[in-house]
Amino acid sequence: MSAKNDDNGRKYGYFILKQSEGFRAVETYHPFGMKVLDYGLNEIDAFVPKHRRIETENRNLGAMVEMLMPPRAMMAALGFGFLRRINREAHAYANTRQIGPAPLASIRFVRYRLKAIETSCTICEALDHHLRTRLNVKADMREFFPAVQALKTVATERMLGSAHHYQQLVGGEGYRCGSPTNIAAQAFLDTRVFTIFDGTNDLLSQQLSEYCLARRAGRSLSSFLASYPLTAPAITAYHLDLSFLDQELEQEHLVLGGRAIAYVIAISQVMRWAKEVQGDAPARARAAIEFLKVDINGIAGEFGLLAKGVLVEGETAGSVSGVLSRSIPVPTNPSPDEVITTGGQAPVAR
Ligand SMILES: Cc1cc2nc3c(=O)[nH]c(=O)nc-3n(C[C@H](O)[C@H](O)[C@H](O)COP(=O)(O)OP(=O)(O)OC[C@H]3O[C@@H](n4cnc5c(N)ncnc54)[C@H](O)[C@@H]3O)c2cc1C
Repeated sequence: MSAKNDDNGRKYGYFILKQSEGFRAVETYHPFGMKVLDYGLNEIDAFVPKHRRIETENRNLGAMVEMLMPPRAMMAALGFGFLRRINREAHAYANTRQIGPAPLASIRFVRYRLKAIETSCTICEALDHHLRTRLNVKADMREFFPAVQALKTVATERMLGSAHHYQQLVGGEGYRCGSPTNIAAQAFLDTRVFTIFDGTNDLLSQQLSEYCLARRAGRSLSSFLASYPLTAPAITAYHLDLSFLDQELEQEHLVLGGRAIAYVIAISQVMRWAKEVQGDAPARARAAIEFLKVDINGIAGEFGLLAKGVLVEGETAGSVSGVLSRSIPVPTNPSPDEVITTGGQAPVAR
């Protein structure tokens, strides 16, 4: 259990507690999807013996990050399992549903949607490969922070996007809960929460940008990424132009930039997966990487859109531009270069 106390400045504490020792469900919520999930509000009124307090840093969220990283990393495996099923179901439906004399799958745009699902499955297979071969969820995972942010955000986004493609190509039958021909409605409802819980993808993307900015040691962000082991293979192999990241980054840029960085990490992981496994992986990897490259170009386009001034300052009350997240691992021995500035605010060392 984690807890916070504001009596003498914010402090965090982590405790071992059994569910029978004072947990009470105050309100049970009805989830939108994922019906088997326990979802609700608990009250905890418990005495915790001192020896069940976990010894850890209590002034920042470092321990919280560590606690959250294993479940976030495992989203890669979850996404791969989910997408393997969705891929199979979508193909089976498209091959059996007749539109006039031919199956649905003979329509070229339907095949494009199927390809989007297929490549998402490939991407998650590669992320899962990274999880299984490079990460150890039972060890200290702090050094894997950027890889884990990418695994969680890319895998869950791919799940959601593919569930959407699947439901669209099933048509009206896909809007029926309990349809005998497909599971599209349930799949879409079930997948919706994954980009929201366990840290919203928007926040995790912002943190990924902040993590990289704090380590670039005076270089531009794009040159840092060109030599960073998680991103360099993709940038070199595909001559990715990330120079759009080299500007003063407001909070909205940090979120979008983090998504771009996560896609680049995913390309590197797909490349390595294709090298390390047998069979048809190289051909599947090529298609998956093309989709990811388009996603990166899309982010560059969004930077362009923001540059047109679509976000008018002062439009909403209480802008939080410049607010930095508190839960990213600090660099060891931060140099003056590793102090982050955003949005023209005062530099923040962490
Ligand atoms: C089904 C379910 C089960 C859950 N189970 C647990 C659990 O077991 N334990 C637990 O502790 N919590 C649990 N949660 C809570 C969950 O972790 C939070 O809902 C989640 O982290 C988001 O926090 P929030 O709801 O406060 O959203 P908010 O922080 O209010 O964010 C809402 C939205 O605002 C936007 N936003 C917020 N911050 C940023 C940012 N920096 N940049 C850009 N946009 C931003 C995003 O669009 C975001 O989706 C559960 C939630 C759900 C839905």
